[in-house]
Amino acid sequence: MSKFLAQKLNTLKPYVPGEQPKDAQYIKLNTNENPYSPSKYSVDAIDREQIEKLKLYSDPESFNLRTAIANYYNVNLQNIIVGNGSDEILAFIFAAYGECGVVFPDITYGFYRVFANLYGVKYDAIPLTDDYKIDVNDYEKANKTVIIANPNAQTGDYLTLIQIEELLKNNRENVVVIDEAYIDFGGESAVKLIDKYENLIVVQTFSKSRSLAGARVGFAVASSALIADLNAVKNSFNPYNVNRLSALLAEKAIKDKEYFIQNCNKIIATRKRLVENLKSLGFFVIPSKANFIMTKTEKISGERLYLQLKERGVLVRYFSDERIKNFVRITIGTDEQTNILIAKIKEIIGE
Ligand code: PMP
Repeated sequence: MSKFLAQKLNTLKPYVPGEQPKDAQYIKLNTNENPYSPSKYSVDAIDREQIEKLKLYSDPESFNLRTAIANYYNVNLQNIIVGNGSDEILAFIFAAYGECGVVFPDITYGFYRVFANLYGVKYDAIPLTDDYKIDVNDYEKANKTVIIANPNAQTGDYLTLIQIEELLKNNRENVVVIDEAYIDFGGESAVKLIDKYENLIVVQTFSKSRSLAGARVGFAVASSALIADLNAVKNSFNPYNVNRLSALLAEKAIKDKEYFIQNCNKIIATRKRLVENLKSLGFFVIPSKANFIMTKTEKISGERLYLQLKERGVLVRYFSDERIKNFVRITIGTDEQTNILIAKIKEIIGE
């Protein structure tokens, strides 16, 4: 750090993304990307004409993309804001609703803590239950902004809409954010509750179920008043936050429902098969409705399994946090990738 850095930023603990190796060809199951290609409608939309148009700024209102999302979810245009990845939307949320403090689970998406530190927001991290679940009763009358990833990051644990409603009913005086980065792999979205709860913000991304992680597009759906707040933050930070090409890619992707459903179903089926295989090898797997699973075994430590898999060309994610240090997190890949993963695991544990 230089001597010029603002003092309040001296203690920043930036987010550490999963490895993106450049040196070797790994089977990459460490950052919850989608193994399938983006929709061909997205890919075909990027032609010379679109590239030529890069000389012009992108639409600050992202009208076409927001219209496509509004049609998909049957909501109004003023219920939607788009961002440069859902990380940017989350940053806007911390800036807008951090003053009263925030609350989230102890094991969840690591960026919530990072944003809290960046914006000087006080936070409480509420422990998951012993079986790695979120107990909504722990969030009753939080009087702080509640942020829940559903399915939860790192565990894949899922709250039903009934549980989400319970959370909302008990938190009418504060904002409740449901981060649905992984909702399309078997969960039910809370978007349908936005008319009923004016304090609800649902955040989603094109990075996972729509294979556009590198395009960086995310969005939030909420009451028009909350979206107006977030727009005020956005327009005070970066009015052209979604670039032309990414907006077009995302617009085409959300219109291609058939391909989207097909890929989500493939990932769900592969997840089921991977879980069955791991269980038959004696692994414990946290039930997951995401495109990843958390698993552990007494036969080998999480860190060793991660290192041994890496040596054999398969990258998974290891977290050293106390409560999950025995686990590895494995992104659901294609069937072929999963077959290799299972074969390597068998080799490592000597089955
Ligand atoms: N929320 C959760 C729970 C995530 O796991 C991620 C991705 N790591 C994000 C949000 C951010 O996704 P993106 O910025 O790619 O939309």
